[in-house]
Amino acid sequence: MKEESTAGIVVAKSQIDGHGCFAAKRFRQGSRIAEYLGERISQEEATRRLRGQRRIHVCAIDDSWAIDGSRGGNGTQFINHSCRPNCTIYIYRGRIFFRALRDIEPGEEILVDYEISYHSNAKLCRCGTPDCRGRINSL
Ligand SMILES: [Zn+2]
Repeated sequence: MKEESTAGIVVAKSQIDGHGCFAAKRFRQGSRIAEYLGERISQEEATRRLRGQRRIHVCAIDDSWAIDGSRGGNGTQFINHSCRPNCTIYIYRGRIFFRALRDIEPGEEILVDYEISYHSNAKLCRCGTPDCRGRINSL
């Protein structure tokens, strides 16, 4: 399985879940890692596409729009959740980006706290960190 990915990241098998996204170079704390690319869709379309899906590659921009990384994504759609993340998501002018929360070394899996995702609030977290809250969503 070969996945298109953006400069500085690679997609590979993850210990956490399926495929993950790994640093191919060092990212300094506070630096931008990548943009979450994909097809821009309405929230209604996101809801329709996600019905019955176990793996979710859609990320919300706001109450009206979302990006479906499974269509035209750059590898960042494989970034897994962790309750102890090393990067964070931020939205800037309707686009989604990842920023390093600390220095990230080459080979480290890039992990974000999904907080509020399209996953069911009942979906269990398997990140394995000591401070795992037990579920993916923080609600
Ligand atoms: Zn966890």
